[in-house]
Amino acid sequence: MLFRQLFEPQSSAYTYLIGCERSREAALIDPVLETVERDLEVLESLGLTLGFTIETHLHADHVTGASRLRDRTGCRCALPEKSGAEDVDVAVKEGESIRIGGLELKPLYTPGHTDDHHCYLLESEGDGRVFTGDALLIDGCGRTDFQNGDAATLYRSVHEKIFSLPPDTLVYPGHDYQQRHVSSIGQERERNPRLGGGKTVDEFVAIMAALNLPRPKKMDVAVPANRECGQFH
Ligand code: FE
Repeated sequence: MLFRQLFEPQSSAYTYLIGCERSREAALIDPVLETVERDLEVLESLGLTLGFTIETHLHADHVTGASRLRDRTGCRCALPEKSGAEDVDVAVKEGESIRIGGLELKPLYTPGHTDDHHCYLLESEGDGRVFTGDALLIDGCGRTDFQNGDAATLYRSVHEKIFSLPPDTLVYPGHDYQQRHVSSIGQERERNPRLGGGKTVDEFVAIMAALNLPRPKKMDVAVPANRECGQFH
């Protein structure tokens, strides 16, 4: 398997490239519009063809690169069915794997940050990786105060769908604001200050209610564009 963790500094967003060495097919999880050219260069340098763009959820903080990548490569855009987005080629649902050559990406429905959010589990060559989007970040999690977010729902998603994975599963988040790259299920279960270390659902709900975060700057542009795979009109 070929794997790259790519970064977009304006939104501190991670894009993940996964590629099948045999078929040379690849997917990009959560590509960002501003870094489409960089992503195309990485694909070319690795000799990969883009089969899919895959979103964890409908983002509010950046515009997806999905539509532009589809225009340039003919790839298919995968978005959660629950996002209600238009122009989607693959409607993502838990229980329906996405196959990238010989690789199998399993969607896990994990609402709470948004009501359409999915994580993706990839087991390859004995290693487990989970792409957690904004459901679970390193020592943190995504906000739960808009886009039908709900703290108690996120707590259940993380505990039932993510923390139940083997402890050595690697956790690759959708963002990191402090240059951290990767964690593990064991580490987050033990020391995530919001969700780990035995925190109860009531403690988590209180933590999230006290955050008082500002509205994302790009929200009014990003959400409508992302409803159409990142197209502008
Ligand atoms: Fe988000």
